[in-house]
Amino acid sequence: MIKSHPSEAILYQYAAGDLSASMTLVVGTHIDMCPVCQQTVCDIESDLCQKHLDTVVETLTTPTAAFSGMSKATCDKMLEEIFSSEAKPSIQPEELICLEGRRFVLPRTLACNHSRIGEWTNLVGKLWRAPVNVGERGHTNLIYMEPGTQVPEHTHKGQEATLVIDGVFNDENDVYYDGDFILLDADRTHTPQTSENDCLTLATLDAPLYFTSGISRLLNPFSSLFFRV
Ligand SMILES: [Zn+2]
Repeated sequence: MIKSHPSEAILYQYAAGDLSASMTLVVGTHIDMCPVCQQTVCDIESDLCQKHLDTVVETLTTPTAAFSGMSKATCDKMLEEIFSSEAKPSIQPEELICLEGRRFVLPRTLACNHSRIGEWTNLVGKLWRAPVNVGERGHTNLIYMEPGTQVPEHTHKGQEATLVIDGVFNDENDVYYDGDFILLDADRTHTPQTSENDCLTLATLDAPLYFTSGISRLLNPFSSLFFRV
């Protein structure tokens, strides 16, 4: 069961279309995996929709100098036709990615963005990365950790959002499973690692990683691999 969710404020921003493209991808993929957040977003959308509809109906039925105003019945009929028309999906989702002999089924939002996933690169040891080009400065990545992998302890200049797509990893704070969404700000350092299981995550950063401990500080130039402009 998913225990780590985006805050209600983030879900509201998602429903209102106010999140960045990268956060929309991460939060949308979490929602695909999480019945609890699906229900919350559904409630928020109904609320937002009703508020917008009230404004639209008032605008369309109020006469102005340039517009005589629509009757309430005509307005209702027009809206009914709009709502009963079926939206055709424009993107064919591609659900599978294969890496190191493993096959992963992608949740729908990520599957619809499959063409944005770039080449896999082996960063170091058992750690793999593929950039996801969402049209912003490139700092959204799929990260694959084979069993027994540790990402060196690091902090961020901005926020880091991570979603577990498949597998298990832990850091100093907790253990995270499929669907868990983790948001860390600049004040927190952490050391993600896997033990006997592997883990595929989707992660987005709004500023480069900064490696903080011991010899891994030498890896700071390598943080550009996570944060490609
Ligand atoms: Zn959730």
